[in-house]
Formats: sequence, C-alpha cells, structure tokens
Amino acid sequence: MPKESAINRRNHLADWVCKRNHKMALSCGACRRAGAKCLVDVSSGYCARCLERHLKCNLVVTEADWERLERAREKVEQELKDTVAQVLAAEEFCCVLLLKQLCLLEQLGLVDCRDKEMSAQC
Ligand SMILES: [Zn+2]
Ligand SMILES: [Zn+2]
Repeated sequence: MPKESAINRRNHLADWVCKRNHKMALSCGACRRAGAKCLVDVSSGYCARCLERHLKCNLVVTEADWERLERAREKVEQELKDTVAQVLAAEEFCCVLLLKQLCLLEQLGLVDCRDKEMSAQC
C-alpha cells in the first residue's frame, strides 16, 4: 500500500531526527502546548514530534541560530566549570578554617587545664 509506506517513511524520518537531533532550550508552539520535549534537527529545522504527528512546526532554526545556541552553551559550560572550581576552592578554605577552629579549641582546652591546675595549687 503506497499510503502506508508514506507513513512509514515519515515515521522513519521522525526516528532519524530523534536519533541525531538536539534538545532545544526553546520548544516549538505545539510541543510547548503539549508540554513535550522539543527535539530539532539542524538541517531540517523542524522538530521530531511535529514530523511524527504531521503538525505544522513553527520552530525554525537557522545555522546562525544554531551557532548562537552552541556559543551560549559553551559560555554556560565555562561558567559552570568556573563555579565548580570556586566551590572546590571554598571547600578547601572551609577545611583550613575548620582545622584552625579545632586547633584553637585545643589551645583553649590547654589554657583551661592550666587555669584549673593553678587554681588547685592555691
Ligand atoms: Zn517541537
Ligand atoms: Zn514542532
């Protein structure tokens, strides 16, 4: 049946888009309304869900958009890396402070001890 093969072809295309696609930060209108994940292929500029459901997709992704998105992703990734490094540094600093605190408590204990000894001698 020619009709069925057309559907198969479309399903196959949707699958193909799904496999080599990228998740978008922004969903197309149909996906947003349905609360579904919007997965788009760079070359077609349409999302897999709309291809599968024969919906008119309002998501248009140009190469420039894609590059912009990639750059934005790199920027966020770099920022995340920096933040992780800051967290590690803060943790290390926290450890140093904690050791200092323990050291001071120990010293305080020694002073207290000496104080008691001196009081007892009196
Ligand atoms: Zn979509
Ligand atoms: Zn769509």
